[in-house]
This record gives sequence, structure tokens and C-alpha cells, in this order.
Amino acid sequence: MQKRYLLNESELPTRWYNMLADMPVKPMPPIHPGTKEPMDVDGLSQIFARECAKQELDTEHVWIDIPEPVLEQYKYYRATPLVRAHGLEQALGTPAHIYFKNESVNPLGSHKLNSAIPQCYYCKQEGVTNVTTETGAGQWGAALSYAAKIYGLECAVYQVKVSMQQKPYRSSIMRTFGATVVGSPSMSTRAGKDIITRDPNHPGSLGTAISEAIELATTTPNCKYTLGSVLNHVALHQTIIGLEAEKQMAMAGEYPDVVIACFGGGSNFGGLAFPFMRHNLHDGKTTRFIAAEPDSCPKLTRGEFRYDFGDSAGYTPLLPMYTLGHDFKPANIHAGGLRYHGAGVIVSQLLKEGMMQGVDIPQLETFESATLFARTEGIIPAPESAHAIAATIREAKRCKQTGEEKVILFNLSGHGLIDMAAYDQYNNGDLINYAYQPAK
Ligand SMILES: *Cc1c(COP(=O)(O)O)cnc(C)c1O
Repeated sequence: MQKRYLLNESELPTRWYNMLADMPVKPMPPIHPGTKEPMDVDGLSQIFARECAKQELDTEHVWIDIPEPVLEQYKYYRATPLVRAHGLEQALGTPAHIYFKNESVNPLGSHKLNSAIPQCYYCKQEGVTNVTTETGAGQWGAALSYAAKIYGLECAVYQVKVSMQQKPYRSSIMRTFGATVVGSPSMSTRAGKDIITRDPNHPGSLGTAISEAIELATTTPNCKYTLGSVLNHVALHQTIIGLEAEKQMAMAGEYPDVVIACFGGGSNFGGLAFPFMRHNLHDGKTTRFIAAEPDSCPKLTRGEFRYDFGDSAGYTPLLPMYTLGHDFKPANIHAGGLRYHGAGVIVSQLLKEGMMQGVDIPQLETFESATLFARTEGIIPAPESAHAIAATIREAKRCKQTGEEKVILFNLSGHGLIDMAAYDQYNNGDLINYAYQPAK
């Protein structure tokens, strides 16, 4: 029984798949927060690298070449393995075939590096000297800190305060790569001061950290803001995951009936799902796509579809998306990367049209599932990825009841080796579920 499916360097995809250009119904445009006019490349380039701004709005090119130097960096850790989870299948006694794409096997431990590298590469090409960003659990910040180092850029990271306390080692990693790390909300920006004045005990959220990072980027010369999720160009970079997986599933002689990924802003979900979705669009495939979110931060299953800001202070463009409201304060769950109020524009449009579905999962079920996965597959998953595992286990159990031999593919977006304090809490019986508390 074959366990892992690997690709040679020469088999690596050389182009990203641009879902935006292939969508039959295009999403509505981003809107300028001040003028309320649709934003163009010039407008978005005020904040982002110009090439990223172009990709963000590109409804023309279905395939976008991966720059050669970025491919060279990808070769350090890609292709990642596609793995058949025989151990998990046996433990569940399911007839389903479970595969996972293992994005935890790069030195930064998550899929985030796939977009950090091109974003820093484009910044360097455009003469930018400083990059800034937000980070939750710290995976994006860690990946960006390293990618900035590759291209000789200075890097400043606003990390969500509660995540900084829960996962102190991720700040250590960022500092080791040479980045400056500040807990958010902080007193170093106007946005941070405003939040602390209103709510001195604010635990921070991705929304507060984004406001602070954008403020720094717009007040510092030659500094660009980078984002590790949500935006179209980030999901574009992540399609390397699904394009590899497509080749690897073919090696295994199978095609997924169900594709599952956890959902923060949608980049690892889109990265795995979009390349398979194009076969639903064009080749009559009927794969189901499931995005797994925390039940305490349920924008896909209980959010509203409307224009909203990507951050707390209202500095970002207004985006048409499923949202819990930009002032939503997520519960302190350990899956820091999923504590975000909104969903990316492409996935929101796809959800609206019924081309994918959301499922929400309580924290305890994610750790139960993560523990079973660890004991059967030997990998400690990130608390974020555990949402995908939990959704996979639900599907596999359904297959056991119906006897269906479905092929399930999920993304293991990262490992949880820096999250062991969370596992300790779970093992000590101290972890709890949080109910969804709508924004006031
Ligand atoms: C950031 C992160 C996520 C959530 O972000 P998406 O853009 O929704 O993928 C999920 N898993 C891990 C390991 C992460 O670091």
C-alpha cells in the first residue's frame, strides 16, 4: 500500500491558477474606504506591492507564471508530499480513502511561506525596503520574517496580543529571523491607541493588527503592507498546493469526491480547492468543497454577505464578503489563524453561488480529532489544521454509515509543534468550547 506521493523538481507546477479570471460570475470590486469609489491597481499599490495589486484585480489571465527566482525558492521545500492516511482510515473503520497534502513540512511549518516568498520578491523588484504585516498565531509573521530576510528587506510584525501570550515561541522565531515584533493592540499607532482607550483589556485580533500594520506602512517611506490570507493574490500563490495535489492524486489513480481545508481568510482552502474546482466548472466533475471554520468565529455559516472592512479601524479597502462585522471580537481559541471576522472575496462569491460550503466546528472536537490524527499518522497538527481533520473525520464517519468508498482530500496546513501549550490544556481537561457571541 503506497503511503506518500512525491513529485520531482522537474514536475513542479510553473504557473499559478487564477480562479478570479475563470469564475463565471465575477465578485464586486474593492471600494476605497474614503471616496467609496471602486479601487484600481494604482489605488491598491498605495498599500501593496504593485504586482500584487495587479494580481488582486486580474480577471483576464487564468494562468500566471511563477517568477523563476520564486520557483527556485519553492524548490527548497516543494513539492510537499501527498499522503494516504491509512492509519486514520483504519482507526475510523471507514471505507473512505483519506488523503492529505502535507504543507507542514517546510522549516516554517505552514503553507504561509508559499505567499510570503512571492510577496517579498515583488517588493524587492519594485525597490521597496521595508515590509510590515499582522500575524495571529505567528505562522504568517514567521514566514514573512524569513522571506524578507531572503530579499534583504526590513520586516515589522504586529502580532495579536493574546496569541503572543499563548505562543511565545513564534515571536522568538520571528526575532531570530531578524524581524521586529509588537503585540497588538499597541500604543505605537493611532489605531492601537484608539482600541486600547475604548477597551483596555482588548486581547487583540487579526483585525486590530492589520489596522496597525497598514498605519505603519502608510506612514513609513518605502514600506509596503503584506497580508498572509484573505486577498485574491494570496490565494493565487497558494494554488501551488492544489496544482501539485492534482498531479499527485493522478499518481495515486484517484480523484477527490470531497476537498476539505480549514478556513481563516481562505488562502489554504482556495489554494487546495481552486485547481480542483476548475474541473467542476469545465469538465463536469462534481467534487464537494468544504471549508472548516471555528464555531466561535463562523463567518461562512452565520456571517452576512456585504461590503465590510478587513480590519478593525477601517483602513483597508471595503470588500464584498461574508463577515461577522469588522468590530467582531473573536473568542480566545487556540487556532489563532482562524480568528478573523471575514472571508476572502473569491470564496465569498463561490459560497454565495453554492459552489462550496462551510462547516463550523467546536474547539474540543478539533483537539479530539487532532489527537486521533497524531496517534495514527504521527504528526501533531496545528490547531487550525485540526478543523480540517475534524471535518474530514465527520465525512469519513458518514461514509462508514453509508458504506460509500468516497475519496477525501484535506489540507494539513501546518504542524502544531509550537502549540503544545494548547495540547497540554486539552490533555489536562482545561480546554473549553466558546459559543459564538455576535458583535454588538
Ligand atoms: C494562517 C493559517 C491558517 C488560516 O489561514 P487561511 O488563509 O484561511 O489558510 C490555517 N492554518 C495554518 C496552519 C495557518 O498558519
